[in-house]
Amino acid sequence: MLPERTGARSTPVRRFGSIVIGGGYTGLAAARRIAELRPDEQVLVLEASTIGEGSAGRNSGFVINVPHNTRMGGHTSPLEVARKQLRLYDEGLHWLGGLVREHRIDCNWNAVGKFHAAASDAGVQNLIASLEQYRQWGVSFEVLDRDALQEKLGTAYYTFGYHSRNNVFVQPAALIRGLADSLPSNVVLVEGEPVVSLSESSPFRVTSSSAQYTADRIVLANNGFAKSLGILRDRLITIFTYAALTPRLPESELKKLGNSEEWGVIPANRLGTTLRRVQGGRFMVRSAYSYEREQSPADTLNQLTSSYQRRYPNMKSHKFEYVWGGTTALTRNGATFFGELRPGLFASLGCNGAGVLKGSTYGKLLGEMAMGAQSPYLSDALSLEGPSWLPPEPFRRIGVVSAIKYQAALAGPER
Ligand SMILES: Cc1cc2nc3c(=O)[nH]c(=O)nc-3n(C[C@H](O)[C@H](O)[C@H](O)COP(=O)(O)OP(=O)(O)OC[C@H]3O[C@@H](n4cnc5c(N)ncnc54)[C@H](O)[C@@H]3O)c2cc1C
Repeated sequence: MLPERTGARSTPVRRFGSIVIGGGYTGLAAARRIAELRPDEQVLVLEASTIGEGSAGRNSGFVINVPHNTRMGGHTSPLEVARKQLRLYDEGLHWLGGLVREHRIDCNWNAVGKFHAAASDAGVQNLIASLEQYRQWGVSFEVLDRDALQEKLGTAYYTFGYHSRNNVFVQPAALIRGLADSLPSNVVLVEGEPVVSLSESSPFRVTSSSAQYTADRIVLANNGFAKSLGILRDRLITIFTYAALTPRLPESELKKLGNSEEWGVIPANRLGTTLRRVQGGRFMVRSAYSYEREQSPADTLNQLTSSYQRRYPNMKSHKFEYVWGGTTALTRNGATFFGELRPGLFASLGCNGAGVLKGSTYGKLLGEMAMGAQSPYLSDALSLEGPSWLPPEPFRRIGVVSAIKYQAALAGPER
C-alpha cells in the first residue's frame, strides 16, 4: 500500500566492525544499537529483499507486550519467566515508541490494546486459563460476554472474550521502513543482497550474492532463514501464515464492524483466525499455517474468505484487495535463541510469532551484548531457556504437519 521503495543496492566498502544479516525488526534494532554504542565504526546491514517486503512489513501489525509463551522450563519457574518477559517487552515497547516519536515515524501507532475472543467451549476454557495467568502476572483485563463483544466487534460469533491494554497497532510496513530510514548515519544498509555463506570464525568472511565483506562481529537476524546458512538447523522450523485486506469499505459497511475505528482480535486457539479493523476503513483477516512452503493461493483465498464470511455474514461483499503469505520461525518449546553462538557470532532467531516487539527488544539487547555492554535486561534475556532439539527430516515434517492438522481440528470454530 506504500509507494515503491528505493534503498541502496550496494556499497563500495568491504571491511566493517560489525555486519548484521537481515533487515527485519531484530536486525535493524541490533544495527541501531551497535552504531549508537560505537559511533566511530561503520555497521553494515545486508537485507536479502527490500525493507518492508518480507514478514516485517506484511504482518498483522499487533505490537504485543505480553508473553505468548511461558511454558519454557529451564532453571526458572513459568511465573518468573513471564515476569522477566513482561519487563523485557515493557522496556522494548518504551524504546520502540520513543523511536517512533523521536523520528516522527508515520505508522499509525495506536495504543488501544487487543481483544481475545472464543467461539467454542474449548476456546472459552483456553481464555479462562490465560486470564488466570494474567492475574498471576498482574496484567489487567476486562472480561466481555457475547453482547459486549457484539457491540464492540459487530459480530455475534464469539461467546466469551476479554480486552487487555497490552498491545499497540501499527502499519507494519510503515514502521519497518521508518526504522530503516532513521538509522544512525554510521549504519550502511544494503537491500536486495542476500548473504550466501559465512566463514567459521572472526574475522568473518561474509559472501553475498554480489560481494565479499569482512567483519569482526556478525549479528544473525534472519530468523528462520538462518538455517540456509547452516545455523540452528536442528532447532528452527519455518511456518507460513496467511492474511488478506479488504478494499476501503464504505461507511454503511464499516458500521457492521463494531463501534470503534480500530480494533483487533487474537483467537482462542493457536490455529485460529486473527481479525483487525484497520484505521482508514479496511478489514484484515489472518489465518492458516503451512510447514516450510507456501500453500496454494486458491486454498489461502478460500480459507480467509470463509473465516470472514462466517464471522460477518451480513457484509455486502467478502472480496479482498490484497492476499499474501509470509514466514515466521518457530521452535519446539517456543523459546527464542538469543546470545553468542561462537566468539563474535551473535544471533537472535526463532521469534515464535509476535516478533515485531520481541525482535525489536532482543535485537537491541543483542547489539548491546555484541558491544560488551551489560544490563539487568540483558541478563534476563540471557537467562531464558533456549530452543530444544528437533528430530531430523522426514520425522520433523511428519511431526509438524500432524501437529498442524491436529491443532486445526481442535480449533474448530476458532479457525
Ligand atoms: C501474515 C503474518 C502475520 C503476522 N502478524 C504478526 C503480528 O501481528 N505481530 C507480530 O509481532 N508478529 C507477527 N508476525 C510475525 C512477524 O512478522 C515476525 O515475528 C517478525 O517479522 C520477525 O522479525 P525478525 O526481524 O526476527 O525477522 P524477519 O522480519 O523475518 O526479518 C528477517 C529478514 O532477514 C532477511 N534475510 C533472510 N535471509 C537472508 C540472507 N541470507 N541474507 C540477508 N538477509 C536475509 C529477510 O529478507 C528478512 O527481511 C506475522 C507474520 C506473518 C507472516
